[in-house]
Amino acid sequence: MFNLILFGPPGSGKGTQSEKLIEKYGLKHLSTGDLLRSEIARNTPLGLEAKNLMDKGQLVPDEVVIGMISSALDSNPQAKGFLFDGFPRTSAQAEALDKLLELKNATICLMVSLEVSEDELVKRLLKRGETSGRSDDTNEQVIRARIVEYHNKTAAVADYYHRFGKVKIIKGEGTIDEIFNDLCKEIDACMN
Ligand code: AMP
Repeated sequence: MFNLILFGPPGSGKGTQSEKLIEKYGLKHLSTGDLLRSEIARNTPLGLEAKNLMDKGQLVPDEVVIGMISSALDSNPQAKGFLFDGFPRTSAQAEALDKLLELKNATICLMVSLEVSEDELVKRLLKRGETSGRSDDTNEQVIRARIVEYHNKTAAVADYYHRFGKVKIIKGEGTIDEIFNDLCKEIDACMN
């Protein structure tokens, strides 16, 4: 099984690149943001709890997202591998993911981390807000809160995988195809 984490702050292009990567490598895409938005759309109790926090740009509790990932892993036993997008976002999530994968005799092969300047992130997210239908993309204060959460809680996740030599940094500015090619080079090197 080939398991990959696509890492980076909100607006760094994880969603866009994930779509191209899953198509090329045949991986199952697991985006906790998408899973949470689907809970919200279905009006589930979990969705209602998550929506309050997401609207403020805050992270939802670890146990909620870990539970969602655990069931997604269990319900895809045939997957060739997983592309984790927007997860793990805290050190506790990273440790939990390692344990869940260990139960399946699997590990994370690589974390590719997209780097984009903060001004560019805000610009991209506001632009995305014009069409994404995501309320957390339309308000600059919420966007900035999400970036603060990233620095306070999520950036440390890269240090966690760095200890195991699993992190590769990719410049997340340029054309979509240029960034995709840089990602593929690192993924191919890890696969072979
Ligand atoms: P995203 O679609 O990845 O930008 O996520 C949108 C929002 O969903 C985030 O601002 C968080 O409120 C929540 N979220 C998504 N993934 C996670 C996660 N792994 N841990 C905690 N909250 C998450």
